[in-house]
Amino acid sequence: MRVTVDQSRCLGAGQCEQLAPEVFRQDEEGLSRVLVPEPDPASWPRVLQTVDLCPVQAVLIDEGPGPAPQDTK
Ligand code: SF4
Repeated sequence: MRVTVDQSRCLGAGQCEQLAPEVFRQDEEGLSRVLVPEPDPASWPRVLQTVDLCPVQAVLIDEGPGPAPQDTK
């Protein structure tokens, strides 16, 4: 699984960086950037929370190959 941010939707609301600062960082324009596209299993619960909390659904999860987060604990 990989996480990406659609910067064309991002409003710079910052919820993602607040929740998972090791994964998301706001750039100089205030838009969120993914620092770690394949975060550690420990980060996934918070990464998945950002998907729900982002007001514009800009945080996207690519299911792709690899174990689901609940299988990697
Ligand atoms: S929560 Fe959504 S809108 Fe806010 S900075 Fe993150 S990706 Fe952008």
